[in-house]
Amino acid sequence: MGSQLRALTEVIEPLIVMEGAGVRLKRSIATARLDYLDPFLLFDHFGSDDPADYLPGFPMHPHRGIETVTYMLAGEVDHRDTLGNAGTVGPGDVQWMTSGHGIMHEEMPRPRDGMMGGFQLWVNLPARLKMTVPRYQDVPAATIPEVVRDGGERLRVVAGEVDGVRGPVKEIYADPSYFDVTVPAGGSLRQPITLGHAAFAYVFEGEGLFETGPGGPGRAVGSPRLAVLGDGDELVVRAGEQPVRFLLVSGKPLGEPIARYGPFVMNTREEIEQALRDLRDGSFVY
Ligand code: MN
Repeated sequence: MGSQLRALTEVIEPLIVMEGAGVRLKRSIATARLDYLDPFLLFDHFGSDDPADYLPGFPMHPHRGIETVTYMLAGEVDHRDTLGNAGTVGPGDVQWMTSGHGIMHEEMPRPRDGMMGGFQLWVNLPARLKMTVPRYQDVPAATIPEVVRDGGERLRVVAGEVDGVRGPVKEIYADPSYFDVTVPAGGSLRQPITLGHAAFAYVFEGEGLFETGPGGPGRAVGSPRLAVLGDGDELVVRAGEQPVRFLLVSGKPLGEPIARYGPFVMNTREEIEQALRDLRDGSFVY
């Protein structure tokens, strides 16, 4: 069995955008440059030394038809919804939220030890699950396994499998892998990725050299950048004199039409209009 390296097809510099009540974030998916990387609808990196950049937070807002995945590096996000769920996502924790037919929630970032930072990814749901029952998978840091290889590469496994170790997030339609990867200085990572799945690496510390083929020079990707990976079954990333840290995310494309309007992502314009009607007449959350 030969392997097919996943080459970089695009390297995206995040855009600075304002969201919620005035949160400054770095956005790499859901931009003019990369509107949709099926099944991934949006990817935001938030965090700042200046609380004014995030304290306004995300007051009550709806979602329908998608999943939102929050992964915190530092600080915390307090969340609560109109179904009565409430909690805090702290450093190293993950919340995988399936909005299904509808949730209405708020997400308020708070510093811890003066720091706040993390990521939010939106994963699309297929037509038959867009109106499913809302669900949360709250994943405390301590339940996320970390695989350490002989060469010192470390992979925190949020979803998917690394060397036979499975992550705690289960039963997600897109069959996603979500890893937080650190390659030590001078080290290299060789990682299988399911053929046919969409995949990206988001470099947020240091710089990695992504191999593109035998004898090729590879391509350096620094932070913060989102590298879109072409198809293949394996990724090879080397670190230079400094370690590199990145999220490695992949999932099964849906291949369905999308209609999006802010926090609603459906298949048709009519379904978006229905969501807006449900919101107006109070039948959105039930
Ligand atoms: Mn939200």
